[in-house]
Amino acid sequence: MGYYLVPPVYRPPSEASSLILQVTLGCSHNACSFCVSYKGKRFRVKTWPEIEADIDAAKEYFPTATRIFLADGNAMVAETGLLLQVLNKLHRDFPYLERVGIYGRADDILKKTPEELKQLTEAGLSLVYYGLESGSDRILKMIYKGVNVAQIIEGGCKAMAAGLQLSVTVIIGVGGPELSEEHAKETAEAASAINPAYLSALTMLIPEGSYMDRKLKRGEFKLLTPEQTLRELKVLLENVSLENCVFRSNHASNYLPLKGVLNQDRDKMLAQIERALANPGLLRPEFLRGL
Ligand code: SF4
Repeated sequence: MGYYLVPPVYRPPSEASSLILQVTLGCSHNACSFCVSYKGKRFRVKTWPEIEADIDAAKEYFPTATRIFLADGNAMVAETGLLLQVLNKLHRDFPYLERVGIYGRADDILKKTPEELKQLTEAGLSLVYYGLESGSDRILKMIYKGVNVAQIIEGGCKAMAAGLQLSVTVIIGVGGPELSEEHAKETAEAASAINPAYLSALTMLIPEGSYMDRKLKRGEFKLLTPEQTLRELKVLLENVSLENCVFRSNHASNYLPLKGVLNQDRDKMLAQIERALANPGLLRPEFLRGL
């Protein structure tokens, strides 16, 4: 049997050239109001024989893989024993492997003991992609994130204490215009409390058929204008306090791609935002924005 993936498959932009291995199918939460990624996919953790066969097939095609991403939505929910089996085999079978990434939710991490997380780090799990989305509990509740800010901070710190690197995502505009200031300030506060290695800002895009889409159509939610988006990002950057955190807003959903290290490049990025506010021609046109 060849190497194949069960669609749809999503991975972070920085895993574009990675070998993808599905440990789970779908997302165990599958309830965030802005997300339809796995709506048609029933969640399950794949069995070890299934994963083992996938790895055996994949290594025939990509024997020199240096990066592997464990999908789907929150593969970190899988039992630690299974993840250890996966990691051990990957590091045995792919001699050039340098990095293994995974999507994880706060509740997945909080269910694991510090020892389990340490075992995962020692077995070669490197990077957890971790959605903060917002530092406002009001907004997290509104989007059905299923965890609160304190849990997200606790989960993030727990993973980092075990030696895992975190890539944290926040969503500009997720609270709409009314909660923009609260969202920017409280998200900056939560991101600072985690102090991850990477922080990425996406911009709210509402997929057709999502709960958020129905709210938008009923007039119960408003998207930010490009200018409001930049102003919210500006407040967020002004308020974060991070050490050597690589910040990116280069996702296809963003109006203005930014990249720098926080805090040291804060002023440079704020100046880029100011320039774009003064010259909207610098923004990515609406038709080029996508998920
Ligand atoms: S946890 Fe992630 S994949 Fe799952 S519903 Fe929320 S945004 Fe979608």
